[in-house]
Amino acid sequence: MNPSQDYQRYLEPGFIPFAPLELARQTEEIVCRGDQRKYTKFYCVGVYGGIATGYTCGCCLRCIFCWVNWSRDFPEKYGDFYSPEQAFEQLTRAARKRNVSQLRISGAEPTLGKSHLLGLLEKIEKSPFRLFILETNGILIGADADYARRIAKFKKVHTRVSLKAGTPEDFSKRTGAVPESFDSPFQGIINLIKAGASFHVAAMTADPRIVTRQERQSLLEKLSSIHPALAENIEEEVVDPYYTTMERLKYAGVKIPWPES
Ligand code: SF4
Repeated sequence: MNPSQDYQRYLEPGFIPFAPLELARQTEEIVCRGDQRKYTKFYCVGVYGGIATGYTCGCCLRCIFCWVNWSRDFPEKYGDFYSPEQAFEQLTRAARKRNVSQLRISGAEPTLGKSHLLGLLEKIEKSPFRLFILETNGILIGADADYARRIAKFKKVHTRVSLKAGTPEDFSKRTGAVPESFDSPFQGIINLIKAGASFHVAAMTADPRIVTRQERQSLLEKLSSIHPALAENIEEEVVDPYYTTMERLKYAGVKIPWPES
């Protein structure tokens, strides 16, 4: 399906903030078909000590530092539909090629297409694979406590919730979403805790070019107010100069200095 003309692409100065659940709904119309989901490719990468990865299309945020290819912004132009069984087969093939026992979905937002993801996790739970890492922005899990409960039932799944900002204003500037949706990923974390899920939190808080010390402090305090261990165990990242990251920053009118290569 082709999106309407007002479908949100990458951010530009003067953008109108959007409701991420509405963008999720619009994006699911493009990248999901029944329990099928669009993927661009499947292969093994070195992170997490080696992991077979399926790259999905489509997200409900528009982060200005996002490294994902243009399938995030133009999901109608990229990828092919895979059922949970077909995605599992592709992940298995990629894992066997490199003899790894871990799997993940990355590239855009894996929680779009609930029936696809849960169907895939069913297959993985029954397989010999050791671990599945679910990398998410936490928006949909925050809006749907049942989603967190169903994910938590899978013993092989570990979720990594990637937070984008420490204040509502920074969240909106950096992701394009309305400031009112800032709390949604934190609600996702609360839902995962209540469900007893295995998870940890990540954020770009090691990069003062993106997140100031003051904002980092706000984010850590907010996490601590949910549970002190969340802030103590946070995975802090920096922005890497991928081509798409640099292009998105340029389109958004944001300049950050890169170290000399
Ligand atoms: S960084 Fe993650 S949450 Fe943000 S737009 Fe990219 S895929 Fe979506």
